[in-house]
Amino acid sequence: MAELEIKSVSKSFGAVGVLSDINLKIASGEFIVFVGPSGCGKSTLLRTITGLETETAGDIFIDGQRVNDVDPARRGTAMVFQSYALYPHMTVAENMGFGLKMAGEPKAVIREKVTQAAAILRLEKLLERRPGQLSGGQKQRVAIGRAIVRNPKVFLFDEPLSNLDAELRVQMRAELIDLHRRLNATMIYVTHDQVEAMTLADRIVVLNGGVVQQFGRPLDLYDDPDNRFVAGFIGSPK
Ligand code: ADP
Ligand code: MG
Repeated sequence: MAELEIKSVSKSFGAVGVLSDINLKIASGEFIVFVGPSGCGKSTLLRTITGLETETAGDIFIDGQRVNDVDPARRGTAMVFQSYALYPHMTVAENMGFGLKMAGEPKAVIREKVTQAAAILRLEKLLERRPGQLSGGQKQRVAIGRAIVRNPKVFLFDEPLSNLDAELRVQMRAELIDLHRRLNATMIYVTHDQVEAMTLADRIVVLNGGVVQQFGRPLDLYDDPDNRFVAGFIGSPK
């Protein structure tokens, strides 16, 4: 059974179609990358999966359960944003535990989950700092920590590394691969960067103009692109 199934999903803003008949089946534990040029609908698709946008048509299933009408906080998804979206007045520990606190979890449970996530992300020594006292890479780890403590079925990353310099980006990619291995979770990662897609993905979804151009393994897209767009964007010419 697919962990995440997107079935005939379309999305319009008013008269403007942004996603057109998207169909994807993603297995448990896969690292999936959505790649495509700016404006092609990557963020909208991610936001629709997590319920921050409402699909105009189609169905979304997580673990076989239709989640169209399920609140974003209860879908089993957790999103990590490019902008980190940390609260500046809260400590690292408070930032990581905030969602759990809002969900009414007991303090002891929150402390335990935050401690575990901090160990995974090497943030143990920074728990009492505030975001203003952290580097870009550390802030991004806190944002990932906030997702980890919720123990989601599906992690959603929206261009999480694009604010970091090139060297740090390479390091954080390696950390994400390591994190995926250790958590064994389903991850969906959005980028406009082909190299990042090829490096990270088990399978890549190439989007253009709100349409899935191809869904497959990195080397298959490279060696055997379905169309000229994929060939130009990722693969060698057919
Ligand atoms: P990407 O993440 O691939 O850069 P987006 O999903 O952000 O693309 O946007 C896809 C298209 O949808 C763009 O043309 C964008 O202007 C439009 N769009 C996104 N969000 C909204 C919105 N809330 N209202 C109207 N148009 C939107
Ligand atoms: Mg985007």
